[in-house]
Amino acid sequence: MLKAAFPGSFDPPTLGHLNIIERAAAIFDELLVVVAENHQKKYLFSAVERVEMMGQLAADWKNVSVTICDSLIVDFLQKKDIKLLVRGVRGVDDFSYEFELSMMNKALDPQIETIFMTTDPEYFVLRSSSIKELAFFQGNVTGMVPPLVAEALKEKYCSILS
Ligand code: ADP
Repeated sequence: MLKAAFPGSFDPPTLGHLNIIERAAAIFDELLVVVAENHQKKYLFSAVERVEMMGQLAADWKNVSVTICDSLIVDFLQKKDIKLLVRGVRGVDDFSYEFELSMMNKALDPQIETIFMTTDPEYFVLRSSSIKELAFFQGNVTGMVPPLVAEALKEKYCSILS
């Protein structure tokens, strides 16, 4: 039974994240999408909102589940008995960051293996932070995020700005 985890902020989930989930779900028997709640970070969406969105978006994949983690990912993986960690890579900048992160996780637990999945070219430019900026200025995010996320972004910025 090959179990893997795909951790991230998913603030908000994008089509790039969903592409990685779809491809990873086709490789592993079980995929756990782990929504990170790092109390030092400032998020647009709360952890509950991010988990709810991701839960709805991943509902059609029977071997994908979604959960929150507010501890070190390595500790979380040990508790869940998961040794494979999936991360998406858009380019060399992502790779150098992800590489360092994987080295740190390996230092904390040598049993953890990080598997890098390169982005599909059409999702190459998708980044949650840029999408939030675009949505803030009422730019069109169609084709970058699923409709329910586009709607959530609109509502969030309307409530913040009103
Ligand atoms: P972070 O963990 O830096 O907060 P995110 O939550 O946005 O990043 O992303 C979680 C994971 O998804 C990371 O491994 C990130 O590189 C990957 N990812 C984000 N956007 C894409 C994309 N468009 N294509 C492939 N992978 C992506």
